[in-house]
Amino acid sequence: MPVSPETPKSAALFERAARVIPGGVNSPVRAFRAVGGTPRFMDHGRGPYMTDVDGNEYVDLICSWGPLLHGHAHPHVVDAVRQAASKGTSFGTPTAAEVALGEEIVRRTPADEVRLVNSGTEATMSAIRLARGFTERSVVVKFAGCYHGHVDALLAEAGSGVATLAIPETRGVTAEQTAQTVVLPYNDVAALEELFAQRGSEIACVITEASPGNMGVVPPRDGFNEHLRRVTAQYGALLISDEVMTGFRVSPSGWAGLDPAGADLYTFGKVMGGGLPAAAFGGRADVMNLLAPAGPVYQAGTLSGNPLATAAGLANLELATDAAYEHIDRTSAALQGMVAAALFEAGVPHKIQHAGNMFSVFFFDDDEQVRSVDNYAQARTQSPVKFSAFFNEMLARGIYLPPSGYECWFLSSVHDEKVLDRINDALPYAAGAAA
Ligand code: PLP
Repeated sequence: MPVSPETPKSAALFERAARVIPGGVNSPVRAFRAVGGTPRFMDHGRGPYMTDVDGNEYVDLICSWGPLLHGHAHPHVVDAVRQAASKGTSFGTPTAAEVALGEEIVRRTPADEVRLVNSGTEATMSAIRLARGFTERSVVVKFAGCYHGHVDALLAEAGSGVATLAIPETRGVTAEQTAQTVVLPYNDVAALEELFAQRGSEIACVITEASPGNMGVVPPRDGFNEHLRRVTAQYGALLISDEVMTGFRVSPSGWAGLDPAGADLYTFGKVMGGGLPAAAFGGRADVMNLLAPAGPVYQAGTLSGNPLATAAGLANLELATDAAYEHIDRTSAALQGMVAAALFEAGVPHKIQHAGNMFSVFFFDDDEQVRSVDNYAQARTQSPVKFSAFFNEMLARGIYLPPSGYECWFLSSVHDEKVLDRINDALPYAAGAAA
């Protein structure tokens, strides 16, 4: 029995939104372009569930695209924000909370020092400026399918929404702005070696997702990050490990806790803001100390280290214990098993890939295409039609997945057996729809 929820209020809001907000949304993937249908306007969330303005409840499998490591409206996080707000929303001066958040990030990660910013985009933008300032070189190397936010120089063959909407290149980014960006295929050691052999002395940095989740989940092959570490060090370029998605999500210290290859600079976001806008970049002290006011590389922000965001981030990290990660890892493994079983049962060609507790499902049109997905070209062989059929049936049954096959599924420490049962009830119908 199909159970499509009624969504008149979301539909009306979307219509109103489209009059004042381009495309009706403030971030493109929210518009459901790839999957069709009415984007759901959320009213509130509690634990692993969120409820839209029409009163439909969903199991949330995006967790705000990663930040909500402990689900919606966790009392500890809400209390921390409430207390901070009661003391003042922003000062534009240093505060104790930002020191505590900086200390917590440094304690958990390999970074010696960090600077707080407001978004992952700002973090990667600032990290590449710093890398260029430190090396006094220009060229930035990125990998196809990796997304590092909407930084001009990094919007070349980017994953995430750029992949979802199949935008080949973003208008407004000039050729000059990407002239110093070289894009390589992911997981391709030979291409990397060749580039460095030819242009090693021009390369300021290589930026990579610590383990990519923006072309679907495509983990680094064994030794790939180590190889990046070795080659960049050999040529005097900096390695920037973008942990905006993986940071504090796949382990207490992020991907660095699972893969000790190391980097010179790191970028963080999502979980460290607890659902409020906070992000950071950090790394080697000798590099970080080039930042103004200590050094000549300028970077600043009116709301950087905002007291509400730092309070939410600290509270989120206080709850991020070993036990919390063990729970998320277990739940993720169980969910992957359930999805695989339903898709096998329905005969849907697919490949599930995971990086720690982050995972995504690649749907294919036929069995011949099923393979390990190691790069963006391979990720693009997935079937958007099958994904969309699966997505819409899950949504109709109250399970909210990322609305694109190029995105990752996220769980939290409060997704429990009850949630898994609810997902399991919906899976046979969704798998059937994708068959
Ligand atoms: N880097 C990575 C790996 C991301 O996944 C994202 C966002 O999804 C960003 C950077 C950009 O972060 P923000 O959306 O906060 O600007």
